[in-house]
Amino acid sequence: PLVLGIESSCDETGVALVRGNDLLVDSVASSVEEHARFGGIIPEIASRAHLEAMVPTLSRALQIADVDLGSIDAIAVTAGPGLVGPLTVGVSAAKALALATGKPLYGVNHVIGHAAVDQLVHGEFPERFLALVVSGGHSSMLLVDDIATGVRELGSTLDDAAGEAFDKVGRLLGLPYPGGPHIDRLAREGDPAAIRFPRGLTSAKDQAAHAYDFSFSGLKTAVARWVEAREAVGQELPLADISASFAAAVADVLTAKTIAACERHGLDTVVIGGGFSANSQLRDMAALRCAEAGITLRVPPIRYCTDNGAMIAALGASMIRAGVAPSRLDFGVDSSMPLEVTHV
Ligand code: ATP
Ligand code: MG
Ligand code: FE
Repeated sequence: PLVLGIESSCDETGVALVRGNDLLVDSVASSVEEHARFGGIIPEIASRAHLEAMVPTLSRALQIADVDLGSIDAIAVTAGPGLVGPLTVGVSAAKALALATGKPLYGVNHVIGHAAVDQLVHGEFPERFLALVVSGGHSSMLLVDDIATGVRELGSTLDDAAGEAFDKVGRLLGLPYPGGPHIDRLAREGDPAAIRFPRGLTSAKDQAAHAYDFSFSGLKTAVARWVEAREAVGQELPLADISASFAAAVADVLTAKTIAACERHGLDTVVIGGGFSANSQLRDMAALRCAEAGITLRVPPIRYCTDNGAMIAALGASMIRAGVAPSRLDFGVDSSMPLEVTHV
């Protein structure tokens, strides 16, 4: 079946077409530059940008794939989690298309979509696997029995998401928004062992209650204190060493907990997704540690990791394969959709 996917949970308007595990087209418009001067996403601006970009992005996708609306078999749209206004634009568009074409509509979970998209790159998923979804808004570990129907959240961040922590430290270091990619670049020239920053929730006591949860706000505060102490004595900031040491702390915790979860649950495959999986320190450390542990690591190329329509179409296609009933057309958006809820 030919599945149209629509994504609008944050600042990317994405429309894609998927048939089975084949991606026909992936069309994305981003309003990220409109938010840069505010240093964060402004929901009202994002909603308006989605409203303006939705039809052109859809038309472009159909044109590139040389497909007309009538030949689509099903539509999938992000129902949550995300920003209410932006989500509403995508869901409204999807409902209008479903009504006009009479095709089934699936309201699906954005975070699970970040894992589902890997099927388009590396093919069918194994029986069970662990998914680590890390982005500007999420950092969660999922135990996946079936991407369409059987997802369990093993843990998540108690405060900042990984990308959010990078962006906050980026601001602290005077880097442009979003700071994540800048820190990544600087870190490659620095010494990851230069400064010993704390690893959140890794003490024996925290491990007992939060084995698979993350916390990055203490780390961010530690970087702030370190920077303040340096500035107080008028010393120049070693940006590369700070970045490398900070990035190493984040990658260390994410990968150590991921491997521990695999060992605990007998899993031999890890899928990493979400915009933060672009981070090279995470990619390198995950590759090294998974290889050591005999775990197969699947990380899609970066363009699949940031928000897009392909991830939503891929999850919609999984729903159809699993025989999931379509959503009722009166569903609403859910800004805090739980990760156990794969679809509405
Ligand atoms: P979501 O709603 O899924 O959270 P998002 O828009 O917040 O979406 P993405 O667009 O998926 O997140 O990812 C953007 C985040 O990833 C930003 O916080 C950005 O700084 C961070 N990021 C992107 N590339 C890198 C990188 N190479 N190193 C570190 N962080 C990065
Ligand atoms: Mg984004
Ligand atoms: Fe996302």
